[in-house]
Amino acid sequence: MTGSTTTGGATTGLERAVADVLERDACSGCGLCSRLDRSVRMELDAQGYARPVFSGPSEPIPDAEAIFRRGCPGVVVKAPTAPRGATPHALLGAHLGVWNAWATDPEIRHTGSSGGALTALHTWLVESGRAARVAGAAVDAGAPRRTVPVSIMTREQALSAAGSRYAPVAALDNDDVLAPGSAVCAKPCEISALRQTAADLIEGEPPLMLSFFCAGTPSQHATDALLSELGVGRHAEVRALRYRGRGWPGRFTATSGDREVSADYDESWGRTLGPTTQWRCKVCVDAVGEAADIVSADSWESDEHGYPTFVDGAGVSALIARTERGRRTILEAEAAGVIELAPLSMDRLAAAQPLQTERRRFLRARLLGSMLAGRRPPRYPGYALLRLSATAPRMAARVLRGTFRRVRRAAR
Ligand SMILES: Cc1cc2nc3c(=O)[nH]c(=O)nc-3n(C[C@H](O)[C@H](O)[C@H](O)COP(=O)(O)OP(=O)(O)OC[C@H]3O[C@@H](n4cnc5c(N)ncnc54)[C@H](O)[C@@H]3O)c2cc1C
Repeated sequence: MTGSTTTGGATTGLERAVADVLERDACSGCGLCSRLDRSVRMELDAQGYARPVFSGPSEPIPDAEAIFRRGCPGVVVKAPTAPRGATPHALLGAHLGVWNAWATDPEIRHTGSSGGALTALHTWLVESGRAARVAGAAVDAGAPRRTVPVSIMTREQALSAAGSRYAPVAALDNDDVLAPGSAVCAKPCEISALRQTAADLIEGEPPLMLSFFCAGTPSQHATDALLSELGVGRHAEVRALRYRGRGWPGRFTATSGDREVSADYDESWGRTLGPTTQWRCKVCVDAVGEAADIVSADSWESDEHGYPTFVDGAGVSALIARTERGRRTILEAEAAGVIELAPLSMDRLAAAQPLQTERRRFLRARLLGSMLAGRRPPRYPGYALLRLSATAPRMAARVLRGTFRRVRRAAR
C-alpha cells in the first residue's frame, strides 16, 4: 500500500490498526508506528497535523500490531501505577516531589520556555555521561517554519532545542529514542506510548523519560497563518522561528530577510495557535505526563484561561518527580548546582493550570459526547474520570452536549 491510510487497502494487521486510529481521528502524531514498521513516514496531512503514511509495502517488526495496540495513544492510555510513597492528586497525577525550579545557568534560564529546567537537565545528563544523548524536538535548521525530532549531545544542541514548539513533530520518529543510553524528552502522549512499549522495543533499562504539561498540538497551518498576519507571506523565506522563551513567557519571533517580526503569547498561542489543536488533544486523558519520570510545566500566576498575569519575567518551571528515578535525578541535578529548587504544592500548581484541570475534570463528559455522536475515542483504563465529572454534573452535561454537537457538525 503506497501512501495509503485507509482500511480498504490495508494488508497487515498493523496497517489496519493504524487506519482505524486515523479514521477515528484519534491519532496524536507521536510517531510510535514509525518504530514498528520501516515503511511508515510521519508526514503533514491536509489539516497540517503529523500523521503516519505507509510509503511502501508494510514491513512490520515481529508483534508490531500487538505492540501498537498496547502503546498507541489513539488506542489506549493506561493509568500508570503510582510508585510506593507517591502522593496522589486527582487532577494532576501522583508525585514523589514537586518544586519550583530554574536553571542556574542564566543563558539556559533565559532561553528556555519557562525556567529552562529541562534544558538544564538535558545539558547535565549528556555532559555528566548519565545519558549518551537526549532525544527531543527542535526547530528544523534548514526550514525554520517546521519542527523536527533531534538528538541532543552538547550544551549548544540543548540550547538550540530549548523552548516550546507549538507545532506538529513526531518525537518518536527518531531512531535514537530506542538507542542504548538515550534519555527522551517528549510530549505526554509520546512518553505514554514509549512507556507502554519500552519493554518490547528496548533491551535493558528503559530510557529516562522527561516530559512537560501539554495543552495540545496546533496545526502547522496556524504557524503559517500567524506568519502571514505578521507580514511574512507563505512563500517568504524564514531564517529563524521561536514560539517562546528568551523571557517568560517570551514572544513568538521570526526572522525573514533582515526583518524580525513578533507576537506576544496571547496573540500567538491564545488567538492563533491554541484554537487549532488537533481533536485527539481535546480528549487527552494525560496531558500532564503521568508516565514520565520527570515533568516540567509553567509555574506562573495565571488568569482563568491559564495565561500569565504578567507581561515578562525571569522564568520559573514547576518540576514534578513521577518516579523514584525521576526524584533522584532532580535532587542530584540540584546537588550538582545545575538547577535551583524551591517549595511548591500540587494544589498551587493546579490553580495555575486551569486548562489542564478543567479538561480532566470534564473529560468523561467529552468522551461520552464524542461516542454518542459516533466518534470512538481512545480507551483510558484506570483513570477515575466518572467520579471527577460527577462533582459538577450541570457543567458536565453542558460539555457533553457541546462535544456531541461539535463532533456531529464535523462529521457532516
Ligand atoms: C505543544 C505544547 C503545549 C504545552 N502546553 C503547556 C501547558 O498547558 N501548561 C504548561 O505548563 N506547559 C505547557 N507546555 C510546556 C511549557 O511551554 C514548557 O515547555 C515547560 O514549562 C518546560 O519549560 P522548560 O523551560 O523547562 O523547558 P525548556 O528548557 O524550554 O525545554 C523544552 C524541551 O521541550 C522539547 N520540546 C519542545 N517542543 C516540543 C514538541 N512540540 N514536542 C516534543 N518536544 C518538544 C524540546 O526538545 C526542549 O528540549 C507546552 C509545550 C508544548 C510544546
